[in-house]
Amino acid sequence: MKITLIGAPVQEGAGRLGCDMGPAAFRAAGLAGALRDLGHDVTDAGNVSPPVPHTFDHPNKALKNLGETVAWTEALAYAAFNESKDAVPVFMGGDHSLSAGTVAGMAKRAKALGKPFYVLWLDAHTDFHSLVTTTSGNLHGTPVAYFTGQPGFEGYFPTLEVPVKPENMCMMGIRSVDPAERRAIREAGIQVADMRMIDEEGIVAPLRRFLKEIADAGGMLHVSFDVDFLEPSIAPAVGTTVPGGATFREAHLVMEILHDSGLVSSLDLVELNPFLDDRGRTAFLMTDLTTSLMGKQVMDRPTRSYA
Ligand code: MG
Ligand code: MG
Repeated sequence: MKITLIGAPVQEGAGRLGCDMGPAAFRAAGLAGALRDLGHDVTDAGNVSPPVPHTFDHPNKALKNLGETVAWTEALAYAAFNESKDAVPVFMGGDHSLSAGTVAGMAKRAKALGKPFYVLWLDAHTDFHSLVTTTSGNLHGTPVAYFTGQPGFEGYFPTLEVPVKPENMCMMGIRSVDPAERRAIREAGIQVADMRMIDEEGIVAPLRRFLKEIADAGGMLHVSFDVDFLEPSIAPAVGTTVPGGATFREAHLVMEILHDSGLVSSLDLVELNPFLDDRGRTAFLMTDLTTSLMGKQVMDRPTRSYA
C-alpha cells in the first residue's frame, strides 16, 4: 500500500497549546519506519505550512482563532484531496479542528472516484457544535457540524463542495456529551456507539455493522482518531481526558478489524499533545495502533474480509 504521512501542526482549535508538536512526536516515535516494516511504500510529505489567517468579526465573541482555523481548513482540504490521488493519506495532528479540512477534502476525493463516503469518528466527544452554539469557543469542538453541512458556518468556513451524509457517519467511544448535543446528533441521524452500547454489546458488533454497510455500498472510509477515544491511563497526552475510554485491547481490536475490512482510505491522528505525555508513551501507543490499522497483527490467524 502507498501511504503518505502529512503533518498538520494545528493547535489553534484546542483550549491549550502543544498539539503543534504532534507531528514531530509521531516522527520521533518512528511511525514512518514502523509502516515501512510492514512492507508499505511510505512517503513523509512534511508538514503543511501554517497558512495566512483570515480576519473575521463574528457575533459569538467566545470564538477563538476563527480566522486561523478557517485558513487551516482550506489548506488541509486541498492537501487531503491532492495527496489521496494515489496513496492513503495519514494526517498527523494537530488538534481535531483539522478534520474540518481533511474530511472535506476526502469527501471530494470520494465523489471524484464515484464512491459513497463514510466517516468513523473515534472520540470521547461528538465535536458537533456550531460557531453559534459553542460556549468554550474552542473550534476543535466543531468539525463534525461543519463537514456534515449543519447551519452556522456560512460566510466564514469555505463552502462545502461535498457534505458528508450524517447517516454515513458512526461515532464510537462517545462519553462526554450534554443533552442538547445528544438531541442534535440524534436528529441529524448520525450513528452513535457510545460507551454504554460498547459495554453492553462489546466494541465489535457496532463496528462490524457499520463496516458491512460501507462494504455493501462499495464505499470508502475515513477514520478520525482522537487520542481521547482511549482510556486516559494508557494515553495521557491529550488536553481533554475523559475517564472510561477504550482499553488497549479494544483499541487494537478496532484497528485490526478496520484493517481486515480493506475499506480505510484515509486517517487522522489528532489531539496528541506531546507536552502532556509521559516519555512518549502516548505517541508510541498511537503509532502502534496505526500499524495495527495498516496490517500489523499480534497473532496470525485467518481473517474475514469485507472488500
Ligand atoms: Mg475530538
Ligand atoms: Mg475528544
